[in-house]
Amino acid sequence: MHRLLLFVLLASWAAPGPAGAEAIAVDAAVVARHLAEAIRFPTVSHQDPERFDAQPFENLLDHFRATYPLVHERLTVERIAGYSLLLTWQGSDPELAPALFMSHTDVVPVEQEALKGWTHPPFGGVIEGDFIWGRGSLDVKSGVVGWLEAAEGLLAQGFEPARSLIFAFGHDEEIGGEQGAAALAATLRERGVKLSFLVDEGGFLSTDLGLVPGKIVAQINTAEKTYFTIHLTARSDGGHSSTPPAHTAVGKLATAIHRLEANPFPLRISQPVRDLFAALAPHLPLGRRLAVNNLWLTGRIVARRMAEDPLQAAMLRTTTAATMISGGVKENVVPKRATATVNFRILPGETPDDVLAHVRAVIDNPEIEIESDTWSQAPRPGRVDAFGYQVLTDAVHDVYPEAIVVPGLLLGATDTRHYADIADDAYRFLGGMVTRAQIPSIHGTDERIGIESLANAVRVQARVLQRAGEAEL
Ligand SMILES: [Zn+2]
Repeated sequence: MHRLLLFVLLASWAAPGPAGAEAIAVDAAVVARHLAEAIRFPTVSHQDPERFDAQPFENLLDHFRATYPLVHERLTVERIAGYSLLLTWQGSDPELAPALFMSHTDVVPVEQEALKGWTHPPFGGVIEGDFIWGRGSLDVKSGVVGWLEAAEGLLAQGFEPARSLIFAFGHDEEIGGEQGAAALAATLRERGVKLSFLVDEGGFLSTDLGLVPGKIVAQINTAEKTYFTIHLTARSDGGHSSTPPAHTAVGKLATAIHRLEANPFPLRISQPVRDLFAALAPHLPLGRRLAVNNLWLTGRIVARRMAEDPLQAAMLRTTTAATMISGGVKENVVPKRATATVNFRILPGETPDDVLAHVRAVIDNPEIEIESDTWSQAPRPGRVDAFGYQVLTDAVHDVYPEAIVVPGLLLGATDTRHYADIADDAYRFLGGMVTRAQIPSIHGTDERIGIESLANAVRVQARVLQRAGEAEL
């Protein structure tokens, strides 16, 4: 069982071609060129808002206007919060709740020191070998370009959806989406939109998961963890370090952090992970299948085995990470104050209040002040027996008939949380194939997407739009 859940973003080899019917004719070379062009606009989100440069965003939106003329002619195109895009493809049946397709146009910066590690310049938009190289090729200009390609192709062949299809592309996801996604969601909320379902970034196809070797697995993440940060402050009387108190502010803080690390949150198999096991079970060898089909009996052992690997442990508990610490001004001065920042990623079914209760109980020192940042609870897990999940599953099978489709839990956070109250079912999935070697390139060096993988993603996305545009049976 130890290797169970290697599916967490791991795979080892690339895509076979699609065998199913195509919704639209996709020319891989043309789509690759469109993405390469989009990569060349350095639409970077910086943590420091002073460093925001609007021009690349303007240029990217111009590029989209020129590249996707039918989308811009036939859909209602609105710019929200300056640089975010809201596109509405009006359906013929107003009774049907709209479906929403999301991505973001911003990317993370490339540090100066990291530049020399890149095979091609991160904003060069180079196509070489089987790949399109550059920042945003995976995260996630490929998503934006994919939805636009799919919509343009369907418009060209006269497709008319019964259900309204909405596209929301934020411009600041990498710094929390507080401008873009928040305003996009607020716009829909003000209009009284209630979504049938939404699809965001954060899931993909891969092969060779260790459990089902040689099989294509499509992971549709039905849930994500809640992002939550607290700040701890310890105080003490200052003074000369030659006559110190028993515990300085730094010492008290260190004890608090030690207690948090020594008392991790309990392991728990949450519903999205249960759903994942259920979907994987038929494809597992007998022993493992029995184990995951009988979690009432084996759950604790399965969880403990999996938790030996930190990556897998993150699927099974709310995680605690002390990430920043500061205090003191001089080596021979007792500090009056020391502070630390702790970041939690909370499992579905638990809340920031639960985390705070745990933190207070574990630190067990009223002298440590605990402050929390604002947070948004992750949306409820999307249902695997709902229309949206079926749409995605069928679209995957249209292009990859052999694929095993499984739900899952995304460990990172997406813009989805801004839409929690207007979508009952949120799914994180784009139809690209990603390999093990590509994973570290996301937010890292040599980010790249396979040309065929991108073309297949567009094929899947076109199928998703077609199927979503039809009435729910
Ligand atoms: Zn992203």
